[in-house]
Amino acid sequence: MIEARGLTRDFEKGRRLFGGLDLQVQAGEWITLVGPSGSGKSTLLRLIAGLDLPTKGSIRLQSPDRPPGFVFQEPRLLPWLNVRENLELPFKIQSQTVDEATLADVLTQVRLLRQGRRPDSIFSLFPHELSGGMKMRVSLARSLLQKPAILLLDEPLGALDELTREELSLELLHLHRRYKTTTILVTHSLTEACFLSDRIVVLDRDGRKLEEKSYQWPQDRDLHFLRTEPFQRDLENISDRFRDLLTEKVES
Ligand code: ADP
Ligand code: MG
Repeated sequence: MIEARGLTRDFEKGRRLFGGLDLQVQAGEWITLVGPSGSGKSTLLRLIAGLDLPTKGSIRLQSPDRPPGFVFQEPRLLPWLNVRENLELPFKIQSQTVDEATLADVLTQVRLLRQGRRPDSIFSLFPHELSGGMKMRVSLARSLLQKPAILLLDEPLGALDELTREELSLELLHLHRRYKTTTILVTHSLTEACFLSDRIVVLDRDGRKLEEKSYQWPQDRDLHFLRTEPFQRDLENISDRFRDLLTEKVES
């Protein structure tokens, strides 16, 4: 689905990222990138989205005609448009329309709407009337409506409080089960990374691949799974190994 070969991205002042990175992502796979701030995680997502070009190497997508969906830490909703208008905007830009049933279905999937309810009340709200979690749900819905083959999630839960974060991470898992979208997540939370991923890719300070780890967690895991022994053991293991790399250190 995604095949990156020999990837390098040079910036000014001799800053070189990825050092010839190879990365393959299978269709339907969920991989999570972890690494220190400035290790190039966002840059890698931008390269995959075609928003930036590598200095060396290549990136191939299986379905280049379907641009990846991109969700950021800030929900990036237009404040002067209500929820309906925000969701419809990408269609308007492409001179397309979206039918009511599809809108209602996606809103139900991101749990902005209870099954069988009419979406009218949520549609008319403006971004400033929504909580952080709700804004993120609208942002996700806006991406999912485009039926992307690849979903790029750049710290989407980073700005949310802990409970909303847990709840939304579970919903991301449900969405992945339903849509089977190939997903690349960037997060600073190792708990999130372990819980959600088929595979974690750890990058060092210069974006080089330090380690990869695959998981075969139960398909139907829920938040209780976070408290179970096998999960906690694995989390401790990976936290111990990468604590130094992933915590901010002030050089003395
Ligand atoms: P991360 O998302 O892992 O925190 P980024 O991908 O945002 O890291 O940035 C990685 C590094 O790439 C930065 O530390 C910076 O040195 C460099 N960089 C990223 N974008 C630019 C740019 N537009 N111009 C110059 N340097 C950049
Ligand atoms: Mg980033």
